[in-house]
Amino acid sequence: MSVLVIAEHDNASIKGATLNTVTAAVACGGDVHVLVAGHNAGAAAAAAAQIAGVAKVLHADAPGLEHGLAENVAAQVLAIASNYSHILFPATAGGKNVAPRVAAKLDVAQISDITKVIAADTFERPIYAGNAIATVQSADSVKIITVRTTGFDAAAATGGSAAVETAAATADAGKSSFVGSEIAKSDRPELTAAKIIVSGGRALGSKEKFDEVMTPLADKLGAAIGASRAAVDAGYAPNDLQVGQTGKIVAPQLYVAAGISGAIQHLAGMKDSKVIVAINKDPEAPIFSVADYGLEADLFTAVPELVKAL
Ligand SMILES: Cc1cc2nc3c(=O)[nH]c(=O)nc-3n(C[C@H](O)[C@H](O)[C@H](O)COP(=O)(O)OP(=O)(O)OC[C@H]3O[C@@H](n4cnc5c(N)ncnc54)[C@H](O)[C@@H]3O)c2cc1C
Repeated sequence: MSVLVIAEHDNASIKGATLNTVTAAVACGGDVHVLVAGHNAGAAAAAAAQIAGVAKVLHADAPGLEHGLAENVAAQVLAIASNYSHILFPATAGGKNVAPRVAAKLDVAQISDITKVIAADTFERPIYAGNAIATVQSADSVKIITVRTTGFDAAAATGGSAAVETAAATADAGKSSFVGSEIAKSDRPELTAAKIIVSGGRALGSKEKFDEVMTPLADKLGAAIGASRAAVDAGYAPNDLQVGQTGKIVAPQLYVAAGISGAIQHLAGMKDSKVIVAINKDPEAPIFSVADYGLEADLFTAVPELVKAL
């Protein structure tokens, strides 16, 4: 049997999370197919066909699929589900919106947030905010899986030459409709794709100070900006910058945490970063226990000094 990956895309291009999901799919064994469900999404389907390791792209095109409405995408997946032993989604907001609907309709358990494929039926996934790793074996006939993208390297975006096949688009479920979206525009790299992230915490004290201190550092390093939940809840940074258990899971090459204590819920989102730098004035702050480099200092002097030195 083959393995199906549900592509995350914007109808024109494939989102990076799809590439990590393809790597997980390859590890499950069998031919890897990618479903591109969208509208006027030929360019996205063509891009999916270039991904190394992909044997076939199924392109379902209809107005009802344009915005990735969960009801419609789930119906589209269910229409072809019987051909597959595994169906994998990236564990992104989009994937997590669709996967449970598919699992419920197929009456199987969802295997969430896998970080490793041990065998075709056995997977690892973090539990208790990443403090333990569960090994999960599934006896279900089809495995519905969400993939923690930081757990798998990205498949090469080019080098493949899969055939693109048209899949019959399912009818609009009529249960939801797209009203509008407000997409924050930023020149910075996207948080989950960034190689460097600088994150600020409650210690910044205000939105003005957050921007004044963290932005120059991010600019110097070409980094994305992240934040702790305390900083987000206090309005210092927007919600989509939150890193952690209830925010984004990141694993950049370099993660700089300034004025962040290192609560387990924050660590759950960033402790797999390659190099962690912590700036905190409390030597007992738990963030120092995961930091490769710790600077016990007042961030309001240390960060500007760092920016100057860079
Ligand atoms: C169910 C649940 C889910 C959660 N999910 C998340 C999540 O996804 N992400 C997340 O981040 N949190 C999450 N939290 C909240 C988490 O428990 C912490 O409350 C939060 O991470 C604390 O944020 P902080 O480190 O910015 O603030 P604090 O814990 O208040 O830490 C501020 C730190 O700044 C230091 N500091 C103060 N002034 C300075 C200065 N001038 N210079 C240098 N250092 C200074 C202090 O020593 C302290 O260590 C969650 C909590 C729960 C219960």
